[in-house]
Amino acid sequence: VIIGAGEAGVAAAGALRENGCESPIVLLSAEKHLPYERPPLSKELLLGVTQAPRLIREEQWYAARRIELRLGCRARAVDSQRRLIMFNSLPDLPYEQLLLATGAAVRRLTFAGAGEVRYLRDLDEAHALAAELAPGKRIVVIGGGVIGLEVASAAIVRGCQVTVLEAADRLMSRVLTPEISAIVLRRHVEAGVVVHLNAKVGQVVREAGGTYVELSDEMRLGFEDRRLKADVVVGAAGVIPEDTLARSAEGCFCEDGIVVDGCGRTRVAGIFAAGDVARFPHPLFGSVMRLESWQHAGRHGAHVGRAMLGDAAAYSGATNTVSTCRSRAL
Ligand SMILES: Cc1cc2nc3c(=O)[nH]c(=O)nc-3n(C[C@H](O)[C@H](O)[C@H](O)COP(=O)(O)OP(=O)(O)OC[C@H]3O[C@@H](n4cnc5c(N)ncnc54)[C@H](O)[C@@H]3O)c2cc1C
Repeated sequence: VIIGAGEAGVAAAGALRENGCESPIVLLSAEKHLPYERPPLSKELLLGVTQAPRLIREEQWYAARRIELRLGCRARAVDSQRRLIMFNSLPDLPYEQLLLATGAAVRRLTFAGAGEVRYLRDLDEAHALAAELAPGKRIVVIGGGVIGLEVASAAIVRGCQVTVLEAADRLMSRVLTPEISAIVLRRHVEAGVVVHLNAKVGQVVREAGGTYVELSDEMRLGFEDRRLKADVVVGAAGVIPEDTLARSAEGCFCEDGIVVDGCGRTRVAGIFAAGDVARFPHPLFGSVMRLESWQHAGRHGAHVGRAMLGDAAAYSGATNTVSTCRSRAL
């Protein structure tokens, strides 16, 4: 059984079949849509180039490989002793081997008024946000990382007035060197995006005149206008590993993700993890890490699928990731 039909889960299912697995394969997805690619959500979908998701695989691909795809099926817990998956309103599902490919969840903001903030992780959220991006709309993006800047890029192309608030002193500081951050900043500013660095949000206030994003007290000095009027506020403060199920499985060790070995094995016999949710030993960096990248999720999923069949090779790690900022690949 594979829980999570994102890039990693679908790749694992395919690798299992391609490498001789004859057992039934059940692929569970909490989402109701056929498994789709996430990268276009913040690019083509927000730009309005398309409304249709890019499917990871066509529907017939699953049937042709006897992969039983169960959509809208959220697992609640895992009993690792009895090898059972539990749901809220479905019978328990037994497994011989289990792959947790549950990905990541958006980090929700917690300041006062955070209920006004929208997020972008899934197809429904992408459609809802795309519908808001009309000329003249004031969009405030909280977070100047990859997703925040992709949202800003799409919104400015669609004629919105865009402000990015970044708490750090430079953009995309987790993944870029200061030199490249400076280039990314320049390109966004040239395109018309207003970027405030060292800007921490205190609260979001909704009142008769509209919605306002207010910067926190210590950040207020130095800004002429500390209150930003917003038609749409987008939270883009990163993701956290979706390891709820792993934490329910006795013996499964989690620390900022599900900790696995080079074959994707957790510390519980028969349970594996792959993709955004897994913390694995990366041979290039010599440390245990999670990667939130499309290339990695697909490669890792396929690798762990083969490992479930006994392939003992250690994952070599993905070394690249791609983002699109202001129509340029980064
Ligand atoms: C808007 C956006 C743009 C991106 N752009 C890029 C990019 O340009 N380049 C790049 O490299 N990466 C990009 N990424 C990141 C990339 O998409 C992810 O790293 C990748 O999708 C991770 O795949 P995954 O299979 O590990 O997890 P996910 O794609 O998160 O899939 C996990 C699935 O598991 C399901 N699930 C979770 N819990 C349960 C449960 N209990 N029961 C059943 N199902 C469950 C979830 O609903 C989800 O469908 C982007 C991500 C987003 C959101």
